[in-house]
Amino acid sequence: MKIGVLALQGAVSEHIDMLKKAGADSAVPVRKEEEIASVDGLVIPGGESTTMGRLIKAFNLEDVIRRRVSEGMPVYGTCAGMILLASRIEGYDQFKFGFIDLTIVRNAFGRQVDSKEIDLNVKGFDTPFHAIFIRAPVGKEPGENVEVLSEVPEGIVFARQENVLVSAFHPELGQDLRVHKYFLDMVRKFLKNREVL
Ligand code: GLN
Repeated sequence: MKIGVLALQGAVSEHIDMLKKAGADSAVPVRKEEEIASVDGLVIPGGESTTMGRLIKAFNLEDVIRRRVSEGMPVYGTCAGMILLASRIEGYDQFKFGFIDLTIVRNAFGRQVDSKEIDLNVKGFDTPFHAIFIRAPVGKEPGENVEVLSEVPEGIVFARQENVLVSAFHPELGQDLRVHKYFLDMVRKFLKNREVL
C-alpha cells in the first residue's frame, strides 16, 4: 500500500510520518502526474486553498487527480485540502474539485482565531479525538451521500463521501493515529475490490 502526499504546500512530512506509523507500507511526497498515477491513495494537506488550487493547475495535476478519484482511489483532504475537494465555497470563486457534496465556509472560526484545539466526538471512535484547527474551514449543507463523522456548533469538521474523506482539522500535528488509520482502511478496501475486478 503506497500513499502519496501532495507536496505543493503544507505539512507534507508530518502526514508522511503519521501514515507510516499508522501502517502504510510506503508514504511519499508527490508533485508529478506520473507519481500521482502510481499511488493507492492521496492526501492533500493544509496550506492556503487558493494558492494550492493555482499550483494544482500550474503543475497540470487536475486531470490525473480527477481520473484516479473517479476510478475509486481514496483521497483525504485536511483543512485547505478539504476546501479543494468540496463542491461549493461560500463567498470565494476559486478552484475546487467538487468531489464531496458540501458547502465550505473558509476561516469559519474567525480570521483572528489562528488556532484552536477541540476534543471531538467522532462517529466510530470510542473516545474523543483531540483535534488541532488552524484558520480552519467548516462544512455545511451536506448532500445526501455525505456521511458526517464529526460536527461542532460552527459546522461539519470531519466527513466522508464514498472514497473522499475530509477533515477541517490537522491530525498530522497530533499523536493520535486514528484518522490516518481510518483513511488507510479505505485504501485497503479499494485495493481489495480492485483485486476482485
Ligand atoms: N485558511 C486556509 C484556507 O482557507 C486553510 C488553512 C489550513 O489549511 N490550515 O485556505
